[in-house]
Amino acid sequence: MRTNAEEIISGVYLIGGPGITSADDAAIYLIDFAGTLVLIDAGAGKSFSQIVRNIEMLGLNPANLSHLILTHCHIDHIGSAPFFNESYGTKILIHELDAKAVENGDSLKTAANWYGTTFPPTAVDQKLKGERETLKFGLEELHCLHTPGHTPGSISLYLDREGKRVLFGQDIHGPFHRDFGSDIDAWKKSMQNLLALDADILCEGHFGIFQPKERVRGYIERYLEEYE
Ligand SMILES: [Zn+2]
Ligand SMILES: [Zn+2]
Repeated sequence: MRTNAEEIISGVYLIGGPGITSADDAAIYLIDFAGTLVLIDAGAGKSFSQIVRNIEMLGLNPANLSHLILTHCHIDHIGSAPFFNESYGTKILIHELDAKAVENGDSLKTAANWYGTTFPPTAVDQKLKGERETLKFGLEELHCLHTPGHTPGSISLYLDREGKRVLFGQDIHGPFHRDFGSDIDAWKKSMQNLLALDADILCEGHFGIFQPKERVRGYIERYLEEYE
């Protein structure tokens, strides 16, 4: 058996998304914190078993999936969340401003209607609040930054490991739509906050992985210029 999963830096993997799992999945990232596994986003919902297989093929145990952090409430990012929770007791985290859409299975706010599908009302175990929350895993920290714009409760995450700063910025490119509660002014401020992180690697939701630093900066600045 082979896997298309990709190790980005030690213990940080791209395990799902177009070309790896289902074409309608946004990118799915996995961080191994010395055996405790954290998932960032969960795909559109049809590729749960494929995601699990990819984790197993990396030699990791899906039963150790302790946290699933959702970058925002859209179906291509949250679809398999209920399956992880039911199968492994994985805790679901999302910013409080996007939590209601998940809890209510809101087909407009989750964009499930755009995808011709539905999302069941799903309990959130931990709501991230305010500008920043830091989650500790052993000696390491995973930083969750509130980066509203695409949706009111969009977050970006970063991890410092082995001298590199890895930024997980899923839908930082937009799009912006009234149904999503998008806010371009808030987004511009969010992007300035991300630029200030000076990240070495950007793990995007739909356009792949960008490095080094100059390409991360260039990617964000290119979108900012479009909305001058
Ligand atoms: Zn989105
Ligand atoms: Zn997306």
